[in-house]
Amino acid sequence: MTERSHPEIREAVQALCKDFPGEYWRQLDRERAYPQDFAKALTDAGYLAVLIPEEYGGSGLGISEAAAILEEIHRSGGNGGACHAQMYMMGTVLRHGSDEQKQDILPKIATGELRLQAFGVTEPTSGTDTSRIRTTAQRDGDDYVISGQKVWTSRAEHSDLMLVLARTSPRDEGEKPHDGISVFIIDMRDAKENGLTIKSLRAMVNHATTEVFFDDLRVPARNLVGEEGKGFRYLLDGLNAERILIAAEAIGDARWFIEKAVAYANERQVFDRPIGQNQGIQFPIARVYAQAEAADLITWKAIELFDADSDCGAEANMAKLLAADASWAAADMCLQTHGGFGFAEEYDIERKFRETRLFQVAPISTNLILSYIAEYVLGLPRSF
Ligand SMILES: Cc1cc2nc3c(=O)[nH]c(=O)nc-3n(C[C@H](O)[C@H](O)[C@H](O)COP(=O)(O)OP(=O)(O)OC[C@H]3O[C@@H](n4cnc5c(N)ncnc54)[C@H](O)[C@@H]3O)c2cc1C
Repeated sequence: MTERSHPEIREAVQALCKDFPGEYWRQLDRERAYPQDFAKALTDAGYLAVLIPEEYGGSGLGISEAAAILEEIHRSGGNGGACHAQMYMMGTVLRHGSDEQKQDILPKIATGELRLQAFGVTEPTSGTDTSRIRTTAQRDGDDYVISGQKVWTSRAEHSDLMLVLARTSPRDEGEKPHDGISVFIIDMRDAKENGLTIKSLRAMVNHATTEVFFDDLRVPARNLVGEEGKGFRYLLDGLNAERILIAAEAIGDARWFIEKAVAYANERQVFDRPIGQNQGIQFPIARVYAQAEAADLITWKAIELFDADSDCGAEANMAKLLAADASWAAADMCLQTHGGFGFAEEYDIERKFRETRLFQVAPISTNLILSYIAEYVLGLPRSF
């Protein structure tokens, strides 16, 4: 987001992040450990509840404030992946949940008493084609019985609640392939002893990600969110917020890489002059700066439309695409500017390089965004 937006929030987030310097993130990265203290500090400061309406104990702010918070976390060298999902996932409950679910859950999320950090969509066999998920939920009296498997379910070990997508009727029975998918709230505190198994998945980035197995897990029918069979639509409803917030994180990363590179290029002396005096070093920095600023502008446009309740699908998708590309280009540039030292753990560049690469794949891969722009925005023939 532009430098002008929410300066007071940005300053406060920067101050909070000073307590969590590079060494903090490096240590966690080495151990693949969850940033408990950081998540607690964000919760205590109310940042994870910015999108929760005031009537449920949140601050009732808009997506622009949430984006400013996440951008500053990433710009400071940290990572919002530890907790960003709560910001947008609770929207599914807020928009489609029953009054009882909202009264029960949202105030506790706002105070930090409950964490809703995990969302199980991806499965080992279905990939990006969510219509082919195989996890099923069968009604049995006052319960649903859930069976199946999810993969890459991030933060499941550090969350109390999980939202899960499961099939309540077969794919070929609906009018559309995505009909018959439902969303459930799973209280993992009860479920772990009763058919839910979580296994951590060591990955290239420290993202607390897991495999989750459902073995005839019984979930009370009141945990169904909204109407049975309409879960995919509920998921789509939250995607624009997710795209915008991920774009903000990527812009934060891009700015972190650019600031690091500029500082190093000014200070590192080779051939008796700063390396930044060479246009071979200057131009790549200037280029990614322009890319990041452009990504920021389209993200800002998406935010304005989102906050005005206008359709922002095209802008939100383009924001995520361009911001992820800018952050990846900035990562590559920053590593190159630092030469061999870019590979040294203590500079944090190699860690951020790995972390920002994720945006090309998750939560949505670049090709799928291009496909959205090609088919839904430009009207090209559908390819799948
Ligand atoms: C660290 C991490 C954390 C994650 N956290 C979560 C989480 O919390 N919850 C969750 O549900 N998921 C999570 N994911 C999963 C993530 O959302 C998926 O990995 C991502 O959506 C891509 O799906 P896939 O891996 O199944 O790739 P696939 O669908 O198997 O695709 C593989 C490649 O083929 C491309 N491709 C597929 N179909 C087409 C097509 N028609 N045209 C062009 N290209 C195509 C894709 O773009 C991709 O590059 C996480 C993943 C990672 C790595």
